[in-house]
Amino acid sequence: MAAISLSIDWRCEMINKFIFNYNYDLIDDYRFPDDIEGWDDCPYCNSKPKVWIFDNGRSTGCKCNNSKYDHRTIHAESILSYYKRTNTLKGYNDQELKDNWNYWCKNGEELFKKDYKNTGRW
Ligand SMILES: [Zn+2]
Repeated sequence: MAAISLSIDWRCEMINKFIFNYNYDLIDDYRFPDDIEGWDDCPYCNSKPKVWIFDNGRSTGCKCNNSKYDHRTIHAESILSYYKRTNTLKGYNDQELKDNWNYWCKNGEELFKKDYKNTGRW
């Protein structure tokens, strides 16, 4: 009898974790980015992401959610974190959130994420 592959598809993982409400149930600070056409559609809810970009964070929100505070999100390093880490704004990439989002849409994993074991490091 052939072995049955039990490898967990990341899509299954997503579907199990998030109930698709099919609406943007996000806090009001999330807005569509100005260059929305350059952002891929979420592979699950087929929606363009809204983004929340502020001094301390950059994150996405789409229609994959259980609630306003429990939703699929992709992050990028904030401008303040970058400044604290490098002591300059030189080299700060304001496209990182889009890069990370688009990479995740295509590959199912994030291009870069915060290393929570080393607080403040990316
Ligand atoms: Zn989604």
